[in-house]
Amino acid sequence: MGRLPSNKYPAACAAGHCTVYVQAGAGVRVRQEGRWQVYCLADAPKEGGATAVQPPDAARARSTANRFAGPCMECSVQVEAGAGALVPDEDGKRGVQCPMCQVVAFRHERWDENDQFGTDPWISDAVPPGCAATTSLRILALNRECWKCKESTVCVVGLYPSRPARTDRWARWVDKDERAWIKPLLADARFERIAESIKPRWSSTVSGRYLSNGCQHCDALQGDFPVEEEASDLVREDGVDALDILLVAQVPTPVWQRVVHGERGSGSSLLM
Ligand SMILES: [Zn+2]
Ligand SMILES: [Zn+2]
Repeated sequence: MGRLPSNKYPAACAAGHCTVYVQAGAGVRVRQEGRWQVYCLADAPKEGGATAVQPPDAARARSTANRFAGPCMECSVQVEAGAGALVPDEDGKRGVQCPMCQVVAFRHERWDENDQFGTDPWISDAVPPGCAATTSLRILALNRECWKCKESTVCVVGLYPSRPARTDRWARWVDKDERAWIKPLLADARFERIAESIKPRWSSTVSGRYLSNGCQHCDALQGDFPVEEEASDLVREDGVDALDILLVAQVPTPVWQRVVHGERGSGSSLLM
C-alpha cells in the first residue's frame, strides 16, 4: 500500500466523490492542511496522482458488517449482505445501516470545520456500494378544503418507503425541492391536473415565490405551513396510513437519501 500510514479510527473517506465509510485500519491517513484526513484505499492520494489499489469494500471490517440483506434502519434502502454495518437502534436491537447513513452519522459525530462551514453536499449522486439503485416510495397526498373556493383539493405532502424498515416510522415532508421531481412523475402517471397545480406561486408568508401546492379548482396557493400542520395532525393520530397514496414510484436511491438527510445532513422534517 505504499508509505502512507493506515487510519487508527474509522472515518468517512475524505474524497469528495466517495461515500465509503472506512473502518479502522482499512484505509490510509494523510496530513492535509494541518489535520489528518482518512481515505479509502481506492482514493488514497499518491505522489503523481496515481490511485486505486483495491476495492474499498474488501477492507470493510467483517465483525460489524450485516450478515443478511435488509432495509437500512434509517432510510429503508435495501442493503446487500455485507455491504452495511450493524448498529444498535433506539430499542437496543441491532439493525442494518447503509453506507450513506453511516457517512452522515459519522459527519454528525465528527462535526469538524469542513462539516460545519463547508459547502460540499454530504449525499453524492452515486448509489452507495451494495445498495439498491432505486427505492420504491409512496407519494402521499392530503385531500383538503381550499381556503378560497371551499372545493376539495389534493396537496402532495409526503414521501414514505413502500417497504419501510421497522425503525423508519414517519413520512418525510415534501417541500419545493422534492415537488420539482415529483411533478413530472405525477404527469407521467396521468395525474395531470395535480401535476399542473404544482407551480411557483407568491407567498406573503415567506415573502417569495416557491414551487407550491395549489387548488385544482381556483389555483389558490395551498401554503406549506397550514398544509404541513394539517398533514402532521393526521399522521400523529392515525399514522402514515392516514394520508392517501397517490402513487408508488421507483426513485433513484441517492435522490431519496437526499430527502432523508438533506443536502448537508440537516434532514427533512418528519410528518409526526
Ligand atoms: Zn440508509
Ligand atoms: Zn380553490
